[in-house]
Formats: sequence, C-alpha cells, structure tokens
Amino acid sequence: MDIRHHPEDDLLLALSAGSLETGTRLVLSSHLELCAHCRERLRTLDALGGALLEDALPAPLADAALDRVFARIDALEAAAPRPIKVSAPPPLPEGARWPRALARCTATPWRWIGPGMSWSRVSVPAAPDANVFLLRIAAGKYLPQHTHRGLELTQVLHGRFHDGRALFGPGDFDAADDGIHHQPVVQEGSECICLASLDGRLRFDSPIARLFGSLVGM
Ligand SMILES: [Zn+2]
Repeated sequence: MDIRHHPEDDLLLALSAGSLETGTRLVLSSHLELCAHCRERLRTLDALGGALLEDALPAPLADAALDRVFARIDALEAAAPRPIKVSAPPPLPEGARWPRALARCTATPWRWIGPGMSWSRVSVPAAPDANVFLLRIAAGKYLPQHTHRGLELTQVLHGRFHDGRALFGPGDFDAADDGIHHQPVVQEGSECICLASLDGRLRFDSPIARLFGSLVGM
C-alpha cells in the first residue's frame, strides 16, 4: 500500500500520552494498523517520552496520594460499561477491510444522505458521545464545501479523493481543523469510503448542507 499522508508527531505524542479523545484515537489507530512508518515513529516518540520522564526531578507526593489513585481506579471500574453486542459493519467493496480498531464498535447500515452519498454511524461501546462515522461517496461526487469547529480526522479505507490540497488514497490519513476550508471530491473510477471522527462539528458553506449536517450530527 502506497501511503503518502501521515499524522503529525503531536497527534502521535498525544496518543502515546493517552490524552486523545476516543474517536480521535480510533481513527489514528486505524491508520497505525496499516502504516509501519507511523508505528516506528510512535515507538521512537514513546522511547523519547520515557527518557524524559526518567530525567525529570522527583517531586514529593502528597499524603494519601496513592489511596486517592486507587479510589479513582475503583470508581472507573464500577462505572465501566458492559460489553455490548458486536454487530457487523456494513459491507465493503472487494479489497477493502475494516480496521481492527473497530472490532468492538457497532455501525448502522448505510444511510442515504444525497445522490451517490451515504453514511453509517459508528458507536463506540466505551464512549457513547464519540462522533465517529463512515462516509461512502460515489466516483465523481463530492462532500459540500466546509470548514470545522474542531478537529476532523479521516482515514481512507477505499478509493481516492482530492480536496484541493492533495490527493488521498487507501491508507492515507488526514487531519483538518478550523484553518482548513475544503471540498473533498471523489476521483473517477471508484467510490470512496472513509472512517472519520469529529471533535466539534463541520461548518458547511451552503444552508442546505448545514441543515443536512445538523440532522446527521456532522
Ligand atoms: Zn502513517
């Protein structure tokens, strides 16, 4: 697989530090499954973080700090959601496969959102509020022009799109924030299927697209 677009180091560092929101982590993990280059980069950053921690000056702990940590762990375990039934995600075209990161998630069947466009809501058992979805867009079609109120991560599972900045193909990763104003156009020859997470909402230029976006939670 010829992967050309990778996550920046700040995202990999945040993953290493465990500080990423669930949806973001899921899309990033889907990229790492396919990308040996980023797995190696993550190992280097992990090692760097470990070395920095070892060099840090020791600080005295407050009395009963350990008791408080164990109390928090107990509270987390008590609040852990029960495993939910795993349902098969919607079918993919031949040659494409679902990321292992989605294994415990559920996905709705494809839902029509416009000519040549459908989407599927992905539910993450441990994070019901995570805004994760699949987009399936036919060859030659495009997502309406939009910018973002937060971070939009995209992992291409199948097909190719060009958003005016670059061409993205299978395995490619993209992160777009409020500084990016784009219109992903699917290339001729094949439909495009992407896994995406939104930390915030999309801001579509056209009123109709805004209405559609608010209906489906984009
Ligand atoms: Zn990569």
